[in-house]
Amino acid sequence: MKRIYLDNAATTPLSPESARVMHEWELNHFGNPSSAHHFGQIARARLEEARDVVAEFLGAPSKNLFFTSGATEGNNWILKSVAHKFKNKRLLVSQLEHPSVFKTANYLKANDYQVDFIEPDEKGLITVEQIKKVLQPETALISVMYVNNETGIINPVKEIGRFCAERGIKFHCDAVQAFGKLKFTAEEIYADYLTISAHKIHGPKGVGAVYLKEPALLEPYLHGGEQEAGKRAGTESLAGIIGFAEALKHQSVQSFGSKKVKQLQAFFESKIKDYFPQAVIVGESVDRSPSISQIAFPGQDNQRLLMLLDLNGVAVSVGSACSSGSLKPSRVLQKMHLPEHVVNSAIRFSYSSLTEILELQKTLEILKKLIN
Ligand code: PMP
Repeated sequence: MKRIYLDNAATTPLSPESARVMHEWELNHFGNPSSAHHFGQIARARLEEARDVVAEFLGAPSKNLFFTSGATEGNNWILKSVAHKFKNKRLLVSQLEHPSVFKTANYLKANDYQVDFIEPDEKGLITVEQIKKVLQPETALISVMYVNNETGIINPVKEIGRFCAERGIKFHCDAVQAFGKLKFTAEEIYADYLTISAHKIHGPKGVGAVYLKEPALLEPYLHGGEQEAGKRAGTESLAGIIGFAEALKHQSVQSFGSKKVKQLQAFFESKIKDYFPQAVIVGESVDRSPSISQIAFPGQDNQRLLMLLDLNGVAVSVGSACSSGSLKPSRVLQKMHLPEHVVNSAIRFSYSSLTEILELQKTLEILKKLIN
């Protein structure tokens, strides 16, 4: 059976170009970028070259970009370091964040930091209006993700960032699901802190980066050596970083260059509506990422449907990959106040530029067989 992969929001296949440069690096070079000798200098040059590529994608100077082990580390770094810095102030975090932000916020709250949460509006958006309802004079940081990883809903981060900038509040944006998929710069959305991850854009797992508008103002999270300009200790995962940059070079052509993913989503959703008139496309009335469709099939149990799809060779997900397996209904969909029959029957289909229309047609046939 040829399996169909529609879980690209969880992770994407490594690009062959990335695999090639990573392999070449590991086989022929191995230097530590912090070493003074020839081997180290070659490694340092490759590291800085990769930093330039990733930073350019964010429209940011390279000195503002710091490599990490992924967005989970980046989100922990920012929230914990900011909380520590502004100990007597408050953090304001959206209810719909990825667990690496949401659970970190809850951890901080349980440890005597002052954290408030922003509720989404009736459409599932985190807006300036929603922020105003819970904003306190002591709020020092607002954290709102760009694209929601479960629904694909695009938050108005530019307005939120501007709102923060006008008030001297720091703005953190988890841009994992937007990076390489939507065109934006860190400056354009007024981000003070921004996190990205390589494995969502056909790069390797275990590599990410943090953008810091003012690096001098944020304490490191990992202490030790002087790597990453003293901001993130630990020998850099150079093969991974090189692979990240390579994936990005390729992504620029594949992703925002072509309209393919948008067309895939439009095709799939229109057929879903034809075949399953009762289906609900979550967030349909607002701007969404072309990479994600969260679709509910009222009357179906989503966990059961996920298993049946898997048995038929189609990989999808329920909730986010980081919380699935728990069999608990999605926190994100619940916090959006969606009816129970939507929450319990919703499946996330997520596409990449490698997804083929034939795979979507096959998936639709399988869904028809399983549901009707
Ligand atoms: N934030 C969002 C929105 C995500 O989708 C993910 C990955 N599921 C993360 C953070 C965590 O990224 P990483 O896997 O690099 O730790």
